[in-house]
Amino acid sequence: MGIRENIERFNAQLKDRGTTLVAVSKKKSIEDIMEAYDAGHRDFGENRVQELREKQPLLPDDIRWHMIGHLQRNKVKYIASYVHLIHSVDSAKLLREINKQAKKAGCTISCLLQVHIAEEESKFGFDEGEIEALLGGSELEQLDHVVVTGLMGMATYTEDADQVRREFSMLRRMRDKLRETYDLASVRLDELSMGMSDDYLIALEEGSTMIRVGSKIFGPRTN
Ligand SMILES: *Cc1c(COP(=O)(O)O)cnc(C)c1O
Repeated sequence: MGIRENIERFNAQLKDRGTTLVAVSKKKSIEDIMEAYDAGHRDFGENRVQELREKQPLLPDDIRWHMIGHLQRNKVKYIASYVHLIHSVDSAKLLREINKQAKKAGCTISCLLQVHIAEEESKFGFDEGEIEALLGGSELEQLDHVVVTGLMGMATYTEDADQVRREFSMLRRMRDKLRETYDLASVRLDELSMGMSDDYLIALEEGSTMIRVGSKIFGPRTN
């Protein structure tokens, strides 16, 4: 199946739920991205700053670029002026740097806090206590060039669908609880970015508002 057909199939599936499809275009060519664009798609995700910097000037301005991969603080400055949403904010330090660069660029950047939900070890992501410390602390109010709009999580890479469901469900419950507890001007916590090609159906059932899909749209990444 072609890229256009894949986009249309996802659109039909997501139409009535208000879920955003982020087409993950990492390692894919400008031509492939334009095929999705010409099918009307505007939300694209990249996981590396370098690759995003190369592609962004070559593609239409109305693309909404999502940064979904681990982001180093010293690279925020390269994407601050145009990035639509950063899904992978995994520390208060990074959030501070995003605020600083957004201020310089004269904009406000929407961010998701990446939560470590997988049972497998990972270096990246907050745990619940760290998020509570951030939302409950006084610093966030001073960061007036960032808005935290939700949480992002990646489930364990496993065939065990029950485990994946447990992890997504935990993220949703965490979001619900935080949203009730912290009523802050700079925090909305509406978005739940969860689900990729292999687990997006489970993620949708568990309340995902944004799925990040690469191979089921563009085909397998070979390199
Ligand atoms: C690559 C990637 C995806 C998409 O993966 P697929 O399995 O190809 O859908 C989603 N989220 C993140 C953070 C990624 O790096």
